[in-house]
Amino acid sequence: MARVEKFAFHVPTLEELVGVLQNGLVENFADVQVSVVKCPDLTQEPFKFPVKGICGKSRIADVGGVPYLLPLVQKQKVYDLNTIAKEIQLPGAFFLGAGAVSSRVVGGNAELIPIVQAKTEEKPAINGSYIAKINPEDSGCLLEKYSAKYNDCEFGLLANLFASEGLPGEVIEVKTSRRTGEQNFISCIRKTLEKHYGDKPVGMGGTFVIQKGKAKIHIMPSEFSTCPLKTDEEVNGWLKFFEMKAPLICQSVLVSQDPGFDLRLEHTHCFSHHGEGGHYHRDTTPETVEYLGYFVPAEFLFRIDRPKETHMIGRD
Ligand SMILES: [Zn+2]
Repeated sequence: MARVEKFAFHVPTLEELVGVLQNGLVENFADVQVSVVKCPDLTQEPFKFPVKGICGKSRIADVGGVPYLLPLVQKQKVYDLNTIAKEIQLPGAFFLGAGAVSSRVVGGNAELIPIVQAKTEEKPAINGSYIAKINPEDSGCLLEKYSAKYNDCEFGLLANLFASEGLPGEVIEVKTSRRTGEQNFISCIRKTLEKHYGDKPVGMGGTFVIQKGKAKIHIMPSEFSTCPLKTDEEVNGWLKFFEMKAPLICQSVLVSQDPGFDLRLEHTHCFSHHGEGGHYHRDTTPETVEYLGYFVPAEFLFRIDRPKETHMIGRD
């Protein structure tokens, strides 16, 4: 079994977080409305998740890391979400987040948009994940439902996961439009939390919809690089970048400040119902963009299989 490290986050009340986020987000968006709401039924459009909500025993799992992808891939690094659920002490956990596929299952590299309810003793896993890969025919984006081709819960190399019991309950709703600052939606939330809570790290996860506008998204090529990628410039030359259009449904995991576990502090992958998806960087339409998100603070962080040799390349 992989090495598992556990950390208890600082967990503010939802009411306190609403005030902190409202004050921080106005520095980046013209219109901001943050409130506590009942989580909308996430089995409905546009989410269509296998569970109704993102509440109950919330956790963040940071599994593996970019050092298993760069400078050269370590293909033997594969994980199973059913095992991760046990390692985070939540069998049957509902996961959402951002990761990479298991290349031994998929036959190449691709972005994974994990949306999975892990198995329990009574029920099999429900895998509602998507894969975004480069279409070999036209080098465009090919978005597929994971369950259309595969029936496992594997992933590879790295994943940033938000886990919960998948229950309905109270969540933080964040509505913003017209971006006036330079940071992306999630960086703005994360840096607001970092500024307010400092060395008391706060973790959050959830889902948000880019309702209007377009966004800069990347997809990793199907072939791993055979020459070592040693700088951000070399990584960006290898990745394929796209401008994708709303509505994009984005799964986010963020930690305000690293308490010393070599974390990826934010990671967001998106899917859509029009064939586009991948790794979210930022919107490209500040005047017209609209975001609507639902988030929950995490109680615990689990750092699983942390790379022994690390670096800071490719973490954007
Ligand atoms: Zn990613």
